[in-house]
Amino acid sequence: MTDPNSAAAAPTLHRTRPIIAIDGPAGAGKSTLAAHLARRFGFLNLETGAMYRALALKAIERDLAFDEEAPLLALAQHTTITLEPQREGNRVLLDHFDVSRRIRDPDVTAAASRVSVHPGLRAWMVDQQRALGAAGGVVMEGRDIGTCVFPGAEVKIFLDAAPEVRGSRRYRQIQPNSTANTAAPTEQTILDDLRERDRRDRERKDSPLRPAADAVVLDSTSMTLDEVLDQAETIVRTHLATVRNPSPSAT
Ligand code: C5P
Repeated sequence: MTDPNSAAAAPTLHRTRPIIAIDGPAGAGKSTLAAHLARRFGFLNLETGAMYRALALKAIERDLAFDEEAPLLALAQHTTITLEPQREGNRVLLDHFDVSRRIRDPDVTAAASRVSVHPGLRAWMVDQQRALGAAGGVVMEGRDIGTCVFPGAEVKIFLDAAPEVRGSRRYRQIQPNSTANTAAPTEQTILDDLRERDRRDRERKDSPLRPAADAVVLDSTSMTLDEVLDQAETIVRTHLATVRNPSPSAT
């Protein structure tokens, strides 16, 4: 397997606009941050997790096993996933049907985490994501954007937080939005589920979740949302200024 950080794995880019990569574990606040930065800098916001979720939903609907790669890959090859960036997040179309709400349900969340371990499926996703971001001017959010999808991204932020804090934020966030007919999950269930998804993301062989060597790690455990947004904005401005005006030693 190639090192996703190596130059060989980097796509050849002819971009005129930068890419901001936001990675990190579930519930760290990546979507909120990505939407904010996209508005602030006039970029498009692309949630790659929604693509894994959409495919997982289709696998659920077809009753496919999540741990068998070949049928999932065959399914992907006959699937169209469209991300329509909006002010607060992405509208997600699966084969032209709006699944934006359904993909946030707990069964899809669990399935997305399981289907995303398969290398062939990840390669299919990465191809699509590179095509979506090829022109630049995007904030792309996920787990492997800075390490694998766009290792040459001009700005890389790895947004982290303690699991308990992420679990409690996620609990407050999903309560009003759930469309499942099941009982609302407890905070403990959400924390357990989040730890399990983290473990899978961090331990998978192909592009495991980790900060890129040149990412700025932002630990939001003890920060307010405003502090996170402010610090991230400063990081983006500083990096973009460096790209526009490289120091003599960097050229
Ligand atoms: O970000 P979100 O929680 O919506 O992602 C759903 C799942 O998709 C994650 O649990 C993760 O396993 C997977 N994912 C991934 N790589 C990405 C984005 C998401 O493996 N770039």
